[in-house]
Amino acid sequence: MLNFTVGPVMSSPEVCAVGAQQVPYFRTAEFSRVMLENEQWMLRFADAPQGSRSLFLTSSSTGAMEAVVMNCFTEKDHVLVINGGSFGARFAKLCEIHAIPHTELLLKPGQKLTREMLYAYDGQPFTGLLVNVDETSTGVLYDTQMIGEFCRKNHLFYVCDCVSSFLADPFSMKGCGADVMITGSQKVLACPPGVSIVVLAPSAVGRVNHARVRSMYFNLADALTNMERGQTPFTPAVGILLQIHTRLKEIDACGGAQAEVARVAAQAVDFRRKIDGLPFTMVSQSPANGVTPLHPLHANAYDIFLTLKDHYGIWVCPNGGELRQTVFRVGHIGALTHEDNTLLVDAFKDLQRKGML
Ligand SMILES: *Cc1c(COP(=O)(O)O)cnc(C)c1O
Repeated sequence: MLNFTVGPVMSSPEVCAVGAQQVPYFRTAEFSRVMLENEQWMLRFADAPQGSRSLFLTSSSTGAMEAVVMNCFTEKDHVLVINGGSFGARFAKLCEIHAIPHTELLLKPGQKLTREMLYAYDGQPFTGLLVNVDETSTGVLYDTQMIGEFCRKNHLFYVCDCVSSFLADPFSMKGCGADVMITGSQKVLACPPGVSIVVLAPSAVGRVNHARVRSMYFNLADALTNMERGQTPFTPAVGILLQIHTRLKEIDACGGAQAEVARVAAQAVDFRRKIDGLPFTMVSQSPANGVTPLHPLHANAYDIFLTLKDHYGIWVCPNGGELRQTVFRVGHIGALTHEDNTLLVDAFKDLQRKGML
């Protein structure tokens, strides 16, 4: 199997080896130490301000998005949601479900968010902003710095869903002033799905501790208290947390966040260079490093996904909804190499020879 989807992705042999072991009991000093190390690595790689905290939730990343919406906002807020695709729409839906007043800044698929578009909302009575830093459905990377300045000027609580962009695109909580950063285990962390991570700046820790959240499982104040001793309120995905520990250690040993971002960027550049001349157009006006969404000019995007999977053992990532027939995505995250890119591009060329591309 050669997996170019955007999650789950290919794991390193070291991470796979941890997954093959028995899962230990977790209310121990040893497991607490693992969790506290995981927390420190996350804070460092997110470039979080002094006094920030990391929480590890046993849920997919949508669970973390929901937990943040529930714990950080109330019906007294008014949140601006950047909605450029299916993940932006998810934030809007979460606000709707939890009765958080919100306004959507809607973008067309692949469209870049410009300063003009954002500042059309300047000076209005918003209290928060939600953005998916890489809107993974179309691979659009938003400018976290520009949005951060807007948030600072308007005193907005700034939430960055970095689920697919964390360690793929340059990001600094300190630099852009984000109050919250969210990511998950199955994207650049290249572990199995099941754990999501929330990094809270001190401003967010304060907000979470004063929240009156109507949820037991997603009570982040409870999670913060437990995390002081490296524990979680309920049984976490212990095995995945051990794999995350191995992976974070691996990233640290290979040069940290910057080196991982550079590796993913090089993987993307190599792929985009190799498909030059093939009958595709790029979808994103502002491409993120983690994924390249492609529009095939002559063939059906979903058929390409099926053919590659069934006849070549190669997985690219289909799109859902409206873009299903017209766009598929190639991921550059996880344990992939430039040689893997060549294998995929050779498969495209083979399809082209057969008149299927
Ligand atoms: C993958 C992803 C998510 C969450 O997906 P889950 O399936 O819930 O893990 C959220 N936001 C973005 C931007 C993503 O890429």
